[in-house]
Amino acid sequence: MKLTPALLPNLIEAIADSFDKNAEEVTALDQAIGDGDHVINLQRGIKALMAQRDEFSRLDWAAAFQKIGMTLMSAIGGASGSLYGTLFIALSKASREEPLDLQVFADVFNKGVDAVKQRGKADAGEKTMLDVYIPVADYLRTAAAKSVALSEVLANIPQVAIAGMESTRDMIATKGRASFLQERSRGHIDAGAKTAQLMICAIVDVLAGQLETVTNNPELL
Ligand code: ADP
Ligand code: MG
Repeated sequence: MKLTPALLPNLIEAIADSFDKNAEEVTALDQAIGDGDHVINLQRGIKALMAQRDEFSRLDWAAAFQKIGMTLMSAIGGASGSLYGTLFIALSKASREEPLDLQVFADVFNKGVDAVKQRGKADAGEKTMLDVYIPVADYLRTAAAKSVALSEVLANIPQVAIAGMESTRDMIATKGRASFLQERSRGHIDAGAKTAQLMICAIVDVLAGQLETVTNNPELL
């Protein structure tokens, strides 16, 4: 399967759908320990991407990630705007000319997540989106090193992302607005971890569907 920016319009639409379907749940999570705007912030970002989605297919990965990062940085706002802007701009910087296979993507994605850690001065266990992104990045790195088949990687990632999202429930927030609540932040899933999981699951769904189509129609390879 060729992982090219031609996939981006489908990926952006799938993420937009998933946010729309889960908006109420995410808002309730952010209302419990934040200010309730998280999904609206991200939906504003996705809407800005939707408006440009056909342009992305004509770019290479580095240029597409750069454009996505700049768009998200200005459209999202809140803590998550600068973090998602940082993520995609770092993905752009780490992108190379080589075709995007699992090994390359694992490396690029790990660099993106490292940039988010630096930007947010945060790490695993602080009840943020990083509690989803770090385990997924670790899993990708391990799977790439072992040359695990893409179909198996795609089958496993949702479990890793869901476990990361769920793990935030028992954590005390030490970053972002929820950290003001200290001990009272415990018992609620972090909204940013939830949307990170939703995004990852939406992306995996699209890619798994593409992989199935290519496997059933080898002439498309
Ligand atoms: P705000 O908190 O400014 O209203 P959002 O509601 O859009 O911004 O985003 C909140 C989410 O951002 C949190 O749920 C958390 O996952 C994430 N977040 C906040 N601060 C940090 C940080 N320092 N590092 C990583 N993620 C963070
Ligand atoms: Mg908020």
